[in-house]
Amino acid sequence: MTTRTEYDLVVVGAGFAGSVVAERAAQRLGWRVLVVEQRDHVGGNAADMIDANGVLVHRYGPHIFHTNSDAVWRYLGRFTKWLPYRHRVQASLGNTLVPLPFNLNSISRVFPLHRAREISEALVSEYGAGAEISILRLRDNPNHAIRRLSTLIYEQVYLGYTRKQWGLSPDELDPSVTARVPVRIGKNDEYFTDRFQGIPTDGYSALIERILAHDNINLMLGTDYHDISPTIRGRLLVYTGTIDRFFDFRFGELPYRTLRIDFKHTRGPLLQSVAVVTHPGHAEYTRSTEYRHFTGQSAGGTTLSYEYPGPHLPGETTPYYPIPVPESRNRYRKYRDIAKTISNDVTFCGRLGRYQYLNMDQAVAQALATVSRLART
Ligand code: FAD
Ligand code: UDP
Repeated sequence: MTTRTEYDLVVVGAGFAGSVVAERAAQRLGWRVLVVEQRDHVGGNAADMIDANGVLVHRYGPHIFHTNSDAVWRYLGRFTKWLPYRHRVQASLGNTLVPLPFNLNSISRVFPLHRAREISEALVSEYGAGAEISILRLRDNPNHAIRRLSTLIYEQVYLGYTRKQWGLSPDELDPSVTARVPVRIGKNDEYFTDRFQGIPTDGYSALIERILAHDNINLMLGTDYHDISPTIRGRLLVYTGTIDRFFDFRFGELPYRTLRIDFKHTRGPLLQSVAVVTHPGHAEYTRSTEYRHFTGQSAGGTTLSYEYPGPHLPGETTPYYPIPVPESRNRYRKYRDIAKTISNDVTFCGRLGRYQYLNMDQAVAQALATVSRLART
């Protein structure tokens, strides 16, 4: 007879959510923890690596850390220093590159001077200097100058990009999706306004490796939890994989968007003036990202990635984005309700476990809260 190790906690997934849960349980509660990760590396979708040309790239698309949470910033600060990076993005509109979020500088790029001034004044008088307003709300404004602007921004910045990214138009999605990138009544070109922003000095994978480097944590890479679940024993389970798979898709598949990412290295100087350029127009990809902007790395060449979104096929592609529409929410609620009934011993967490469009800081905050709750069990 074989003896199986008994763990206090088994964690499925070594992304931000699972790794932070594991570390807090090990360090704060003194628990013995097993982390099971199906990929051959930690970090989840935030993982990075050095490519064949020596450039640090984000394997699953560009990741910029930003948060307003003191607690999250302080927690991660135990495991990493930060490069003081401020994210800037441009949208490629035909032959013109404009700053995104679309702001008063962007208006000056697409309208003649007198018209730009008229529109900017209308915006400031309507919403106040410094305000941020979602494109869907801006479209409700009947003012002539503002309507002209909102139609242009909607059609040229949001419509094509959103159709490529989600397979839906902006008004078919939860309004929070396009509200992530509001129209800004000011001249600040930075993408995020959070108090804390940066890129981990040694990268995201190194950060997560340090989070998991605790004597009480055992890590199994390259292992699908469902293949080994009968052979492992844990008092509690935290599951950060897709909740529909956990329940064998009994209410049907939850829809996710996936991405194909093509990397291209070119000898010579940088090709973009900012890290990310979005392509709402005819290009098949949504974003091009030039990675050396994140780190200030010097190299003989530059690596860019191009993102091609599509529908996720379980078992074949990687789920990247839960799709925030009422139908998928309702289906998720069925899974959430059944999860409540199975037992208190299983907790779902993270972007896939809770079917939520979380940023990294929100995944960390959720993981910290999850362990506080588990501590009371
Ligand atoms: P994940 O990172 O998805 O980790 C879940 C892990 O569980 C995965 O490694 C998976 O392999 C593993 N797993 C699943 N099922 C099983 C199983 N059955 N057995 C074993 N292992 C399993 N956030 C930001 O804050 N800033 C950004 O700039 C940003 N950019 C992004 C760009 C892209 C293209 C994407 C897709 C996301 C971006 N995010 C960004 C969001 C960020 O990736 C997530 O917030 C974060 O990765 C969530 O962590 P997680 O642990 O919940 O999920
Ligand atoms: N968006 C857009 N055009 C752009 C950039 C963003 O329409 O040029 C919309 C699109 O719907 C996208 C959403 O805003 O999915 C959120 O953008 P964000 O940059 O937050 O996307 P993420 O980094 O999460 O992929």
